[in-house]
Amino acid sequence: MRNESLIPESLPTGMENFRPTTTAESSRHADGTLVDKYGRHVTYIRLSITDRCDFRCTYCMAEEMEFLPRDRVLSLEECLRVVRTFVGLGVTKVRITGGEPLVRRNVMWLLERIAALDGLKELVLTTNGSQLDRYATDLINAGVKRINVSLDTLKPDRFKAITRIGDLDKVLRGIDAAQKAGFKRTKLNTVMMRGTNDDEFADLVAYAVANDLNISFIEEMPLGDVGHGRGNTYFSTQEALTLLANRFELVSTLETTGGPARYWRIPGTDTRVGFISPHSHNFCDTCNRVRITAQGELYPCLGQNDAMSLMPLLRANQDDGTDAALRAAIVDSMGIKPKGHDFTSQLDAPKVVRFMSMTGG
Ligand code: SAM
Ligand code: SF4
Repeated sequence: MRNESLIPESLPTGMENFRPTTTAESSRHADGTLVDKYGRHVTYIRLSITDRCDFRCTYCMAEEMEFLPRDRVLSLEECLRVVRTFVGLGVTKVRITGGEPLVRRNVMWLLERIAALDGLKELVLTTNGSQLDRYATDLINAGVKRINVSLDTLKPDRFKAITRIGDLDKVLRGIDAAQKAGFKRTKLNTVMMRGTNDDEFADLVAYAVANDLNISFIEEMPLGDVGHGRGNTYFSTQEALTLLANRFELVSTLETTGGPARYWRIPGTDTRVGFISPHSHNFCDTCNRVRITAQGELYPCLGQNDAMSLMPLLRANQDDGTDAALRAAIVDSMGIKPKGHDFTSQLDAPKVVRFMSMTGG
């Protein structure tokens, strides 16, 4: 039976492919956890708390961005209701992202409350590091367990060119502040771009080793039209591994964090080198996550356009502590989680019109 109350009245632009499912099509496991129709358990959510950012990275955003008006962004209270409902459905890991999450006002209010939710094992955050020197200690105190910091280059001019705005020194000071505040095994995220930073992969690994950090290299994904053909900048994991092997002994491991990355170790160091390879190693079979945008759209897959808007449900129903309609919609969303993405055929003609900053990386 179709549950009409779960179908949002109007769909935001870009959600034309939304097809409401029936509760019969989707599934909730007998133990009350979320399982999609391919049998994958969803235990991890990524919540973007703002589409705004103090950088304009060339692979993530267009130079001129229009950001959402405030009333179309989830309030911090609404963010908390969404996370609380997912945790009630067995989600144990939450990543807060954006845009740049640390530019959202009163972000610590939200983080403290999420960290205190019963059943949550890990609250983690992805940041560009620009505000870390100010907030590292507050993040630890709020209950954030680990952080990822984006770092694509160690050259100040190049950093400015890639981010269009950013100051490398401030980010490096932020990473230092995070170490001093007590964050362990902070992970750098490096997007690999041919002709832009491919001469620095080994230096970035050396920086990670010297500072007791982990590092993951990411193949650029065709999300949104950023004005350059991604086919020209695409750099494969295999090629990067060959490059790194000239300088480091890399030992492949079977370690997994339940996500898409595959890991290598450098003997004699604690540094783990990861690769996220959506093109050369499709990871969809084991996908355990969904994403929620700053405007409350639930995207079961980063690389597809299907989504469900949670905002109308949040705004139509007062917070009664149970959020039954929201809970039912989330259960239903398992029915639209697709088998996988198709990034490789879209390198120069993205089908996904959203920028990464909108969905949350
Ligand atoms: N502003 C924060 C930051 O930069 O870490 C969090 C949001 S950002 C969208 C999350 C991650 O997505 C970053 O590590 C960024 O490098 C990555 N990213 C953005 N656009 C990407 C793309 N087109 N392909 C691959 N990774 C991308
Ligand atoms: Fe901002 Fe992060 Fe996107 Fe760079 S990657 S523009 S820091 S959201």
